[in-house]
Amino acid sequence: MPGAGTDKTKRWIERPGPVVVLVEPQMGENIGAAARAMANFGLGRLRLVKPKQGWPNEKAVVMAAGATRVLDGAQLFETLEEAVADCSFVLATTARHHDQLKPIIDAQQAAAEVAPRVAAGDTVALVFGRERNGLENHEVGLADRIVTLPVNPAFASLNLAQAVIVVAYEWFKLAGSDAVREDEPRRSPPVGKQQLGAFFRDLERELEKVEFFRPAEKRETMVINLRNIFTRMELTQQDTRTLHGVIMALANGRKGPARGGTLDPQAAEELRGLIADHSAGQIAQERAPIKGLARLLRRNPTEAERIFWSALTGDRRFAGLAFKRQVPLGPHIGDLVSIPLRCVIEIVQTNEPDITREQRPARHQWLAERNYRVITIAAAEVENDVGKVLDDLAPRLVAADEVPRD
Ligand code: SAH
Repeated sequence: MPGAGTDKTKRWIERPGPVVVLVEPQMGENIGAAARAMANFGLGRLRLVKPKQGWPNEKAVVMAAGATRVLDGAQLFETLEEAVADCSFVLATTARHHDQLKPIIDAQQAAAEVAPRVAAGDTVALVFGRERNGLENHEVGLADRIVTLPVNPAFASLNLAQAVIVVAYEWFKLAGSDAVREDEPRRSPPVGKQQLGAFFRDLERELEKVEFFRPAEKRETMVINLRNIFTRMELTQQDTRTLHGVIMALANGRKGPARGGTLDPQAAEELRGLIADHSAGQIAQERAPIKGLARLLRRNPTEAERIFWSALTGDRRFAGLAFKRQVPLGPHIGDLVSIPLRCVIEIVQTNEPDITREQRPARHQWLAERNYRVITIAAAEVENDVGKVLDDLAPRLVAADEVPRD
């Protein structure tokens, strides 16, 4: 009798629980019976991947025996991957051995794994396979655990809905008990399968480019094994972002510091030329662009500048002289400037743009008029022997320091 055992006076137990996913179920009856089993044990969320007989299904309704709210709420998906995209923990149930390096557990252990995660607010999926041939390898590959119920080895395959009921029963027993405690608050929530999938796709695409998956016939196994390495780690969302970033940085080359990009030395040089050009006609009020350009130059040191700066800041003779890099001075930008010393150090590139060279005298005059002393240093000398450059520079700066200032 349909609806037997339903008692409308009792509250329908609706505690948060795992999602049940049936992959390409062939018989509507099994979907209905699975829904009934779910309702018996307080599970409400059913997801169906391409049910063979289409959806909705009359036979499912009959077998559900009143558990229509589970059927009515069922969601349809094209692939298992899509069905578990929002899940951070997936258990694949299978009667067969899949030769994948994943923990294999029984229904009771499954409940113990699921309950604390559900209590912590994670979305967890219990996945069940096709009546005829269960789950495919790549589908099992998506899972964090394999659930295999101990059965008569000579007759190991349960009916789909019966497999659902065993797992649902264990879940219900445990979830209702006091044994389940929410985990310690976590720093970053566990990664969802969608984010993990995006990481896998980029990783595999990059590996494809270097023909990592060889020979071709081993490709599928290699991909599953590789994915399983990361799945076993139970990564957080942050872990996955980091790993993803690492892979892309290795593949693309580092794109520069986090804020803004850097230019290659040639481009940085051209930029300096442009600044010189631009600043020639600059009026004093237009300071904002110069400040921005100075910041850009600071992020794009030339090789000589980098060497010089690193040597200068590591040398105690120059400690406390308050040199700064790429400092806007009126319409100009000084390579290294000490305001207390009123000293500007210019590093002259070997192949500097004409415009830079042409504007040097006017710039020096502008600085001199404002009591700045300008010391020019050849980039080639810095690159050749920065120690010597600093040895020559040190006494000159001390002397400068002694020059009375206005
Ligand atoms: N002939 C299929 C069995 C399919 S039974 C096979 O070889 O895999 C349908 C589904 O019920 C399975 O995909 C699995 O999800 C579940 N199931 C059946 N027996 C099981 C068992 N002993 N342990 C865990 N899950 C089982």
